Amino acid sequence: MPPQVEAPLVAIRTSRRGREPGPERTVHGRIPDLEAQAEEVVARFPAAAERRLLGWLERWTERVRQRSVLHDDDERAIGCTAPNRRAQARAAIGRGPCYGATMVVDGGSIRVGLLGATGLVGQRIIRFLEPHRTLRVVRVGASGRSVGRPYLKAAQWSLPGDPPADVEDWTVVACEPEAFEDCDVVLSGLDATTGLDVEGRFAAAGHVVVSNSSAYRMAPDVPLVVPEVNGSHVRLVENRPPGRGCIITNPNCSVTGLALALAPLHRAFGVRQVVVSTLQAISGAGVEGPRALHLTDNVIPFIAGEEDKIETELGKILGVVVDGTVEAAPIAVSAHCHRVPTIDGHLEAVSVGLGMRVAAADAIAALRGFRGEVADLALPSAPVPPIVVREEDDRPQPRYDRDAGGGMAVTVGRVRSCPVLDLRLELLSHNTIRGAAGAAVLNAELLAARGVIGPRGRR
Ligand code: NAP
Repeated sequence: MPPQVEAPLVAIRTSRRGREPGPERTVHGRIPDLEAQAEEVVARFPAAAERRLLGWLERWTERVRQRSVLHDDDERAIGCTAPNRRAQARAAIGRGPCYGATMVVDGGSIRVGLLGATGLVGQRIIRFLEPHRTLRVVRVGASGRSVGRPYLKAAQWSLPGDPPADVEDWTVVACEPEAFEDCDVVLSGLDATTGLDVEGRFAAAGHVVVSNSSAYRMAPDVPLVVPEVNGSHVRLVENRPPGRGCIITNPNCSVTGLALALAPLHRAFGVRQVVVSTLQAISGAGVEGPRALHLTDNVIPFIAGEEDKIETELGKILGVVVDGTVEAAPIAVSAHCHRVPTIDGHLEAVSVGLGMRVAAADAIAALRGFRGEVADLALPSAPVPPIVVREEDDRPQPRYDRDAGGGMAVTVGRVRSCPVLDLRLELLSHNTIRGAAGAAVLNAELLAARGVIGPRGRR
C-alpha cells in the first residue's frame, strides 16, 4: 500500500550572486543532490504525482543550469496546490539571475510536536498554527501534572475566543523523545530549567528542536535567530551528519523587537551602545504571572534574569558567523526592566550610540526601508514590512499597536536625537506572538524553506 500523502508541493530556495556564496550552493554542486532528493521523494509518491514531478524537475534543472527564471508553466507542471509555495518559489527565483538553487520537495504537512503545550506560549503556538498551511500540531507534551489528561482539562485556556476544534481530541503526553518520534520538528514552550534537560535530550535523540526558552540561546553551536535579522545563522545547524538533532532558539521576548528595530540602524550606521528601559506586559510571566493585586496601582522594577538576557542576546543576533560559531557584535547594552499592568505588548524606551550624529529622518528612512534577510523566501508568517514606523507624538501604545502585522511586526515611534547618546526611539512588540509563539513558528518556517526540516511522509 503506498503511503497516504497529500498533493506534492515544491518549494525552491536560491541564493544569488553575492549572497551566501559557497561551493555547496552553486548550481552544479547542488543538482546531483537535488536529483537524489527528488528520486527519494518520488519513491514515496503515487504514480501521477511522480510523472508530473519528474517532468517538471527535468525542465527546471535545465533552466537553472542556464540561469534562467521560473515561469508560470513550471508552477503548473508541479501540480502545486499551495499558493504561498508558488509565491515563495516565484519570489525566490523571479527576482533575477539565479546563482544557486536547492529544491525541497514536500509531501504534505510538517508534523509539529509541542513541548510545554499547556502554558501560555504553547497555547499561542496552537492558536497561531490553527490556519497554517504546512505546519500542523500532532503531539502535545507537558509536565507530569498534565500527562494522560485531555488537553483542555490540563490547560487553562487563557486566550480570547474558543480553542481550535482539533484540541478536543488531544491527550497530553510526557516530554520524552520517543513519544514524539513521528514529528518532523519539535517546538518548545518549556521554562529554562526544564528546557535544559528536555530540549537537550530531544536533540540528542535526533529531533530538530525550536526553542523559546533561554536554556541554549547562548550556546556557541546554537543559532539564536530573528529571521529578518540573522536568518543566515541557521547555517550553524545545516550541515549536520544525517540523523543528528539540533536546537535553534528565538530570543527573549524583549530582545526580538529590539533586535528588529536596531538591525537597520546597525547596518546603516553601526550601533555601539544601547540603553533600554522596558515596560513589560503581564503575559510575559506566563500563566503563573503576577497577581492582579500586585500590579494594580503599581509597577514592579525587576524581572528575574531579564536584564542579563537583553544585555547578552542582542550582540549574538547582530553578530556574524565565523568558523562555525557566532562572533557577537561589540555593542554595550544597559537594560532596566519593569513589569507593568498591560496584558500584552512590551514597550521599550531606547537610546542608541552610533558613534556619529544621525538625523532622525535618515534613521526613519533606514527603518522604513528594511526588508530583512529572508524577504526572498516569503515565509508565511513574516510580516511585510517587519518594522512599522509611526510619526504621531504618542505612539506606539500597547493597546493600539501590539497587533501590527498580525502581532509579528515591531512598531517604532518617537525617533529623535538624543543629547546623551545619538538617537532615541520607542518600540513596541507583541511579547507572546513576535516574542515567543510567532517567533518559533517563523523559525520553523525558515528551517523548512532552507531544507533543514520537511515532511517525511507518514510511516
Ligand atoms: P508557562 O505558561 O508557565 O508554561 C510552562 C509550560 O511548561 C507548561 O505547559 C507546563 O506544563 C510545562 N512544564 C513545566 N514544568 C515541566 C516539566 N518538568 N516537564 C514538562 N513540562 C513542564 O510559561 P510560558 O509563558 O508559556 O513560557 C514558556 C517559555 O517561553 C519560557 O521559557 C519563557 O521564558 C519563554 N517565553 C515566554 C514569553 C512570554 O511572553 N510569555 C516570551 C518569550 C519566551 P503544565 O501545565 O503541565 O505544568
